[in-house]
Amino acid sequence: MGKSFDIGLERLTGIGVPGDGQPQEGGVKPPLPDVLADLKIGHYMDASGTIGAQPEMAVPQELTFYLETFGCQMNDHDSEKVAGVLLARGYRQVDGPEAAKVILYNTCSIREKAAQKVFSRLGELRPAASDLRQIASEEERSGELGAAATRAQAGVPVPQEPKHPSLRKIVNAGGGKIIGVLGCVAQQEGERIFERAPWVSLVCGSASYRKLPQLIAELEAGNRRVTGLDTDTDETFETEITRRDNPWRAYLTIIEGCDKACSYCVVPFTRGPERSRASASVLEEVRRLAEAGYSEVQLLGQTVNSYADPSARKMRFSELLAAVAEVRGIRRVRFTTSHPRDFGKDIVEVIEAHPTICDHVHLPVQSGSTAVLRTMARTYSREEYLDKIALMKAARRPISITTDMIVGFPGETEKDFEETLTLLDEVQYDSVFAFKYSPRPNTPSLKMADAIPEEEKGRRLAILMDRQREIQRLRNEKLIGETFEVLVDGKSRRENQWSGHTSSNRVMNFTSPERELLGDYVQVKVVSAMPNSLVGEMAGRT
Ligand code: SAM
Ligand code: SF4
Repeated sequence: MGKSFDIGLERLTGIGVPGDGQPQEGGVKPPLPDVLADLKIGHYMDASGTIGAQPEMAVPQELTFYLETFGCQMNDHDSEKVAGVLLARGYRQVDGPEAAKVILYNTCSIREKAAQKVFSRLGELRPAASDLRQIASEEERSGELGAAATRAQAGVPVPQEPKHPSLRKIVNAGGGKIIGVLGCVAQQEGERIFERAPWVSLVCGSASYRKLPQLIAELEAGNRRVTGLDTDTDETFETEITRRDNPWRAYLTIIEGCDKACSYCVVPFTRGPERSRASASVLEEVRRLAEAGYSEVQLLGQTVNSYADPSARKMRFSELLAAVAEVRGIRRVRFTTSHPRDFGKDIVEVIEAHPTICDHVHLPVQSGSTAVLRTMARTYSREEYLDKIALMKAARRPISITTDMIVGFPGETEKDFEETLTLLDEVQYDSVFAFKYSPRPNTPSLKMADAIPEEEKGRRLAILMDRQREIQRLRNEKLIGETFEVLVDGKSRRENQWSGHTSSNRVMNFTSPERELLGDYVQVKVVSAMPNSLVGEMAGRT
């Protein structure tokens, strides 16, 4: 057998125990092994359920877009819908900003490092000073918002040349490019983005995405700057066409926003209040997805299990889960992220009753110390959280449990941190996504005393990751000799090497002489194990 890979369970955000064995954190996704990198598919599905590959017709540059996404699966899925909005207007997606008329960044601000990324991207697109001066004078003539900022920017004595020379045209009036910032940084920074980067023309937070077609139409009509920054909407973002990146797994947002107000978190500010989608509309989309050939659906929400059906049916989350699991053609149902407060026995019972619901629950705990949980405003104690874990451990089939943790929260003592470590031992998670606490704008924890020094946060993170890596190694080793069903979603350049996910969301790298397996469900016997993945041999088809 050739070289094996070891990447962990997928997570909503951040890096858990990455394959290189070094503890890391931040808002980026783990590097894909080349078995997965081989997959690059742009599929879309329209409202009628028709699925197709991105049209390859020759499209003028005015109708091309480049979209880069940072952060969580919800952002990935929002981007699929944003791409759908543009495809519906006749745009074609391109691989780089140089070839695009519209350049969009869908941003994440959950931690400081994630938020900074977009400004470094915008810096790469900075126009030449002469172009900025031209914009400034046009803005001044028309009394436009941002004129002063542009002038200040243009006044920089030694202009920095843009990294992409073709982007110098961005600022030319008329046929220029449109640069947009979407998502959480857009919502958080609002019009201040125009001051830092006057070459940006669109700033739109996720709670206003329903307005995106209108905003794009305004830009096409010649408006230089448009914003969508409301959070007081009770609507969710639904589109005629969703361009789906994965041909087998489809994401579906069932609840947007968050009402939980954890003291460290920007999400309630950037994504607005909770809004759930009507159950009939969710089920209709799942049926269309199944007809279009998707066999796995993943229900998404910042707190997916806080779902509150706005229709007269008033389905509970567990009832909706069961109904989705019963849709013909759907073989796997996943859901993320669950909040411990709203996680009850009904969810475990539904998982037990429906083999199509995957045996994996992501239940973020954040800390093992009740004192820290209280200052985090998480609404549960360590003991209450452990009661939820006990519900899952008592289930008739094993349920894989993963979590998120924050180390170095203000006031976290050595004893508090020790309690987080003992929680790892007690729960025996299959994966942990751990982060150093990052102070965020507008959040209550920003003003809390007893900040923990960065170096100490790093030390605690490293200790936590080491402890968890050992737990995962031992847990995965116990699986050697067992056989699991795997949905094959990656093919290596190396002969006979494939990759896929088990129902518990473990990555399985395996060998098979079959010529074509992508999208198939196969049985794989585990022959060896690493902390973040399993290695196996195909044992048959299912
Ligand atoms: N809604 C989910 C929940 O309640 O657990 C998680 C949403 S958040 C996008 C994903 C994770 O980012 C959180 O679970 C938390 O561990 C981490 N996170 C959020 N704010 C953070 C902050 N200010 N510093 C460090 N990590 C943070
Ligand atoms: Fe943020 Fe807490 Fe809401 Fe999760 S539940 S998104 S951590 S405020």
